[in-house]
Amino acid sequence: MYKEYSKYLKEKYGEKVYKLPISLKETNCPNRDGNISFGGCTYCGDEGVGFENLSANLSVKEQLLKNKEFISKKYKAKKFIAYFQSYSNTYIPTHLFKKYVNEAVLDDIVDISISTRPDCINEDYLNILKDIKDNHNLDITIELGLQTANYKTLNKINRGHTLAEYIEAVNIIKSYNFNVCTHIILNLPWDTIEDTIETAKIVSVLKTDFVKLHALYIEKNTILAKQYINNEFSMLPLDDYIEKVITFLEYLDPKIAIQRIIGRAPEEFTLFSNWGMSWWKIKEMIEQKMKEESRFQGRLFTYTNGKALKKFD
Ligand code: SF4
Repeated sequence: MYKEYSKYLKEKYGEKVYKLPISLKETNCPNRDGNISFGGCTYCGDEGVGFENLSANLSVKEQLLKNKEFISKKYKAKKFIAYFQSYSNTYIPTHLFKKYVNEAVLDDIVDISISTRPDCINEDYLNILKDIKDNHNLDITIELGLQTANYKTLNKINRGHTLAEYIEAVNIIKSYNFNVCTHIILNLPWDTIEDTIETAKIVSVLKTDFVKLHALYIEKNTILAKQYINNEFSMLPLDDYIEKVITFLEYLDPKIAIQRIIGRAPEEFTLFSNWGMSWWKIKEMIEQKMKEESRFQGRLFTYTNGKALKKFD
């Protein structure tokens, strides 16, 4: 029905591969420290959307080894992705970035994955990663938050960048032959189904490699939480989210691997999270509906390479 990232990894590396999250204490975000704005994205909490991580006071190597020991024991895992997850990891001095990413070059690491914002991409950081790729034969993935192609919604959630910065960032990253993973929030209350479709088309034509779909959750003590309490918007019903995920997948290039179709958020930190249901139950509901309605990823991927034309002459 859709191309699952876990299967993609298994095919590529010959066995299951696990992500090891890393936090850096120096990382911040230009959308929080005043460089672009002080407020940050309206939904952003204190941890910069990385609540599952170990303490940033541990070194990169310590975090990797600790997580690796735990995951190896639990799943008998042998291959890993070093995942720099919190905040914007290409928004630190380049000498520190170089030190940290090089610490992540360990024998059983197959990919270094860097989460950041589209407006924090520049060649100084990419050249450091290129050296690692060339010298150690590792894959490099850059995770970009786009959230939606609707630049008016991007403004409403105070992303601090528009669609153009995302397009430019993907083009630069692709010129290095790195992978791109794009984060999308599919139930932003200001987006319509047309925005969902356009977002799927944009990430497909830009040849992003992976997507990570999330449902919007409302973390306590955020700007979004205040707006929610003041009834400035209401959350869409679960059925809408399910329909948007399926429509998104139908328009998506079938070659793109899906890292997640629903995110996870701990209930104790949120006012609203996944309609009070577990993420895996929602995943099951999406898959069930796709099966019942014979819908699948790429079913409506008919808009590239001249395929949208009805007649050619
Ligand atoms: S880009 Fe990420 S870290 Fe920065 S404000 Fe937005 S959600 Fe928070």
